Amino acid sequence: MTIDLHMHSCASDGALPPEAVVDLCALLGVELMSLTDHDTTSGLAAAARRAREKNIRFIPGVEASSTYGGQSIHIVGLGIDADGEATKRFFADVAAKREARGRRIGEIFAERFGIEGAYEGAVERAGGTKNLSRTHFAAWLHDKGFVPTYQAAFDKYLRNGAPCAVGNVWPSVSEVVDFILGTGGLPVLAHPGRYRFQNSWELYELIKCFQRAGGVGIEVTSGSQPTAADAAMADVARDLKLMAGTGSDWHSLRSARPLPGTQPMFPKDLQPIWQALGVDLPVPDPVPPMTPETLSASVRRWFEAAGFLS
Ligand code: AMP
Ligand code: MN
Ligand code: MN
Ligand code: MN
Repeated sequence: MTIDLHMHSCASDGALPPEAVVDLCALLGVELMSLTDHDTTSGLAAAARRAREKNIRFIPGVEASSTYGGQSIHIVGLGIDADGEATKRFFADVAAKREARGRRIGEIFAERFGIEGAYEGAVERAGGTKNLSRTHFAAWLHDKGFVPTYQAAFDKYLRNGAPCAVGNVWPSVSEVVDFILGTGGLPVLAHPGRYRFQNSWELYELIKCFQRAGGVGIEVTSGSQPTAADAAMADVARDLKLMAGTGSDWHSLRSARPLPGTQPMFPKDLQPIWQALGVDLPVPDPVPPMTPETLSASVRRWFEAAGFLS
């Protein structure tokens, strides 16, 4: 039995359709999952339906972008109202910002690097939606051979501070937290061990600011933070009496992250966030991470059969 409350589908920047993400979770033995696409709930209905068919417990989720001290901070909303008017309005605003930023990124590629069509290419990679992420640009650049690897697109053009990383001002931490609470969801700070601050107390300040705003949990373990950070985050959760979340943050086989449900698990003395959402499951035992290098034969066959092994 495993639990994973953070992963992505092609409704944002993941590779698989929402239904296929659920199928993969079923194959991997995930018993409780949440789909948490960036700034959109559009994959949730399909995923929830498939999860019912597959007997997987499903929590509707989202990973909302916020800006704090000039940095993008991600806040997962678990148990949010996927289809409410407030949700639609909130993310329509963010999508408009993402589209405008995507157009600007496309202009910079053309003006400074002579690379034409990046905006249109990214929209295509995003499945026609305008909920554009830098990852869509990176995937397009790699597909078109402008860079040798997906990661090289970030290193050369798109990482923070690089020429095509157009800064954006997402809603503040308290705006995002208010929105999530307002729809009946629980705000969980995503991958706290991944943010870059000059001093470690600044991360602690961020977490306290998030909690003052009404945040109730942090991802103590995450496939997208260094495992060395997990123990420190467990201590923070204990100190501040925050509930514990966990997730693989899986997107695709492009990255070396652990597959759904195979991220590290947090210590059993912490209060699991899912219990606050009415799911009466204990903290599961940890399982070995499964990465693209260590795919089991059955999982590899599934990717091949589904046509997702790029
Ligand atoms: P965006 O929300 O459009 O700013 O894109 C943020 C996403 O880009 C993150 O969630 C990561 O998946 C990816 N990303 C950001 N910086 C890097 C980096 N240096 N290397 C690889 N991926 C990155
Ligand atoms: Mn992403
Ligand atoms: Mn994130
Ligand atoms: Mn994520």
